[in-house]
Amino acid sequence: QIVIGVLAIQGAFREHIQHLVKAIDELGLQEKLEISVFEVRDEETLVRCDALVIPGGESTTMSLVAQRLNLLEPLRQFIASGKPAWGTCAGLIMLSSSLQNKSCDQQLLGGLDIETTRNAFGRQLDSFIADLDYSKFIPGLTAFQTVFIRGPVISKILPPSPGKPKVEVLASLPEERGSQIIAVRQGDILGTSFHPELSEDVSFHKWWVQDFVLSKITIT
Ligand code: GLN
Repeated sequence: QIVIGVLAIQGAFREHIQHLVKAIDELGLQEKLEISVFEVRDEETLVRCDALVIPGGESTTMSLVAQRLNLLEPLRQFIASGKPAWGTCAGLIMLSSSLQNKSCDQQLLGGLDIETTRNAFGRQLDSFIADLDYSKFIPGLTAFQTVFIRGPVISKILPPSPGKPKVEVLASLPEERGSQIIAVRQGDILGTSFHPELSEDVSFHKWWVQDFVLSKITIT
C-alpha cells in the first residue's frame, strides 16, 4: 500500500486531497495498486506516509501550529529521510532552507537549498492568475491556469548541502511579469510558489504522483 500524506493543520489541504484523489483516478492507479491519501496531523500518521504534500496557507501560522502539535521535528526527519515531498506556496516557504523576510520565531523545515522571499509580488500582483507554460517538464502542459495568492518567490538558489543533488529551476515567470523563479526541484523535493490545487486541471498532481511518488516506489 502506498500512502500519500497531506499536512492538514492549516491552509488549502482539502483541495490538495481532492486533486490527488482525482489524479490517481485519472491515472487509473487504483486498479493496479492500493494507494491512499491521508490527512496528516500527528506523528503516527506521518511516519506511515511514503510521500507528503505541504499546502499553501500562512507559513507563520503553519509553523506555530506544527510547533504546538510537536510536529516540527518529525516533519524535519521526514523531509531529511529522502521521501518525496511537495510544498506549494506557504509549503514552499516551509521547505526552504532560508527565508529572507522571516517573521520572528518562524520555523522552517528545510529540504530545499534555496532562499525564499515571502509576499514577494508587489501590491498589484499580490494575487493573480496566469496561463503559464510547463511543457518543458510536463509534456503538453502549455497553458496551465496558475494561481498566485500572496505567493513567495525563490530569490536565491543556494549550493546543495553535502550529499544532496543540485537545485534545478523548473519554471520562472515570463519576462513581462518579472522573471522570478516559481518552481524548483531538488532530488525528490518539489517547491512551487503557486497553487496547482486551486485550478480545475489535475495535470500537475498527476505529474507529481508519477514522477515523484511512483518513481520512488518499487512495486512488488
Ligand atoms: N503569504 C503566505 C505566507 O507567507 C503564503 C500565501 C499562500 O500560501 N497562499 O505564508
